[in-house]
Amino acid sequence: MDLPILEIEDEFCSKLANTNRLVLEAPTGSGKSTQVPKFLLKGGFLDNGEAVVLQPRRIAARMLAKRVSWEIGESPGRTIGYQVRHDRVSSRDTRVHFVTEGILLRRMIADPDLKGVSCIVFDEFHERSMHADLTLARALMLQRTKRPDLKLIIMSATLDASELSTYLEPCEIVKSEGRTFPVEVGYIDNRSANSDLPIWELAANATAEGLKTQSEGHALVFMPGAFEIGKTIAALGRRLSARGFELLPLHSELSAKDQDRAVEGGNRRKVIVATNVAETSLTIDNVRLVVDSGQARIARYDPIRGINTLWIERISNASAKQRSGRAGRTAPGKAIRLWTERENANRALFEEPEVRRVDLSEMLLSLLATGIGSVDAFEWFERPNEERLADAVQLLRGLEAIDDDGRLTARGRKMSGFPLHPRFASMLLAAKGFGCVEEMALAAALAQSRNILLRKVDKAVEKRREALWGEGGKSDLIAQMFAWKAALKERFDMRFCQELGIHAQSARQVLKVANQLSQYAEASGLLEGGKEVAADEADIRKCLLWGFPDRVCRRLDSGTLRCSMVGGRRGNLARESLADGSELFVACEVNEIGRQGGQVNTVFNLCSAIDVEWLEELFPDLFSDAEETAFDEKQKRVVERRVIRFQDLEISSKESLEP
Ligand code: ADP
Repeated sequence: MDLPILEIEDEFCSKLANTNRLVLEAPTGSGKSTQVPKFLLKGGFLDNGEAVVLQPRRIAARMLAKRVSWEIGESPGRTIGYQVRHDRVSSRDTRVHFVTEGILLRRMIADPDLKGVSCIVFDEFHERSMHADLTLARALMLQRTKRPDLKLIIMSATLDASELSTYLEPCEIVKSEGRTFPVEVGYIDNRSANSDLPIWELAANATAEGLKTQSEGHALVFMPGAFEIGKTIAALGRRLSARGFELLPLHSELSAKDQDRAVEGGNRRKVIVATNVAETSLTIDNVRLVVDSGQARIARYDPIRGINTLWIERISNASAKQRSGRAGRTAPGKAIRLWTERENANRALFEEPEVRRVDLSEMLLSLLATGIGSVDAFEWFERPNEERLADAVQLLRGLEAIDDDGRLTARGRKMSGFPLHPRFASMLLAAKGFGCVEEMALAAALAQSRNILLRKVDKAVEKRREALWGEGGKSDLIAQMFAWKAALKERFDMRFCQELGIHAQSARQVLKVANQLSQYAEASGLLEGGKEVAADEADIRKCLLWGFPDRVCRRLDSGTLRCSMVGGRRGNLARESLADGSELFVACEVNEIGRQGGQVNTVFNLCSAIDVEWLEELFPDLFSDAEETAFDEKQKRVVERRVIRFQDLEISSKESLEP
């Protein structure tokens, strides 16, 4: 083994002996992830406690544990183990745990002082995941108060270490130079870029072309997700079949065996088609050709659904550079970028850190559960936008996860136990009371996914839909539940789905998510107490309300679809909505479409009818029924009115009979 990082072992160990904060800056592939845990073991830093090594990705946590175990001649789970959601391999002897970021946060909730932990290693810190930002801040707080002995090691490939060291002051910095070979970078031309070929066809063409001149080593193709990877492999199969390449997918949804095969296996030359797990987290040896789609799936706040969703976006220059660099680890290589050189100049220089992109409510809830007391006291590496922060606090308050002083409630503590957006955690918790947890797991899965019901369908399909669910429980989401259950019975049969205008692939995806949510519910004890009876539709609508109390709307008049939402936003109820018989409803989606006369046109989608009594029953603190005096302009006199409000939304007002 001849890894560049080995040259700085002594410096690393002697500096770490004298400080509790250390930044290690070294390029990808230099050996940080695999060697630093061994430095810690050998240097005696783990004699009285273990090291937790944070990884942004599950697949990396598992593979690193396997690799380092192999390097020290053991099997995973002895000295070196790992823990990711639903999977833990470790024992009493384990001194190093590779874990995903959520696991450490959960551990901090269960044991705020992190007893038994000597070192925390933040790997891939340059990715600036929200979890890493926050757990680092939380760990610094702990170090300052109860655990001055806790050692924090922050490893980063590309990040500017000076910013970090100001934040960590006082801290030591250790740098290691990488050893890389030149990589020749090429772009596609305008004609290919503007062709109608899907990205996987472009990728297959470029790979076949590139392999003509690259006569040794493997090829690595970057795609945004599993779907595109499947398509690319198929397209490659048509072009490379006779040439004896092994075509291998690599992404987080594969079995461990298939993941291993892509990274370690094979005697033949490989073409590995991967998501950005292969960008920095995993190193595949002897890659000489990289083909880059220039895209990645990125989590971002979705203002329509009020949750975070994954979007396919263009990667930054920094990411593209990382990806290209993968071709030059062992010898000179070549990278082909599936965009034009001109477009390259318009790309962002760096990825936007997650803290600027996502809704903060889920993280805030976890943080409060680790016992930080109040959000104001928190020292962020990068403080998020104040408005976003205020939104998150307000949502948590609406969900009754925190009280008016911003402190965690008992309900909030329970919610923090779910690895879910607080909206969905809140819905599942409420469902326990109504005995409809399984139903809500499905509802939540549907609310997160794209609509499984196609919008523009012909009359015959509409008729069939109506026959199946009638008025759909006065809820667009309940109608989707009907449709989904019918499709499940037919095992998402294509023809059946077509006849009802159901998007079969999305419906199948929903099954996965719903199963996962049921598992969380089960693990949290929500399914205890025997089998559930079929849920009442009104109960389901009440639970939806528990997820979206900030999205209660009232129709403004009976002749039109105009309505007003909590918070003052005006818009229209979607024309085809099944909630249209009700004056009050809750909207899971708030769409902005077009701009008419300079104004944003808001449409409330995925709506469910609700009753005013429910608001009083479920949210007594947000509900008010009060006598008010007001001046009536028309009558030019003071009148007494009785006004019912939910938060700031006026639901009804009547001039009282006896002024
Ligand atoms: P860094 O963290 O700096 O990106 P790593 O420690 O992950 O680097 O990898 C260092 C080297 O170890 C890689 O370049 C590769 O040669 C080797 N390596 C790591 N994991 C594996 C694996 N699962 N199979 C084969 N080689 C591996």
